[in-house]
Amino acid sequence: MSKCLFCKIIAGQIPAQKIYEDDEMLAFFDINPAAPVHFLVIPKKHINSLLDLEADDSALIGRLLFKAKELAKQQGCEEKGGRFVINAKSDGGQTVDHLHIHFLGGMALGPSLLAGKQG
Ligand code: AMP
Ligand code: ZN
Repeated sequence: MSKCLFCKIIAGQIPAQKIYEDDEMLAFFDINPAAPVHFLVIPKKHINSLLDLEADDSALIGRLLFKAKELAKQQGCEEKGGRFVINAKSDGGQTVDHLHIHFLGGMALGPSLLAGKQG
């Protein structure tokens, strides 16, 4: 059994508030939202971080980002926008070592929102 938190969510071993799922990706609301709209889009394939992406994954990351855009629109953030964030490894503040795209919206975001969240 995988020890990875997000692999456990994919496997249904940990619950999540899912908003989209298909064969290769899953999207769910962040458990500790930093904005009124805060969801994550993850590949079902375990990839540690964006810095571990391989050439064969380049189309996958494009589809993840496109889905994040579609879901942001569905969540009512098309007009005012929001922020798409990918933290990578320790200096990037990545706390879950399974590649994920954050979307934050529903409020005007200051430049240091994520830094503030991390204390
Ligand atoms: P990062 O700091 O970029 O690695 O982001 C990891 C995110 O995962 C954080 O914003 C957490 O709040 C979120 N998170 C951790 N555990 C869960 C969970 N069980 N369900 C949903 N989101 C989670
Ligand atoms: Zn994983």
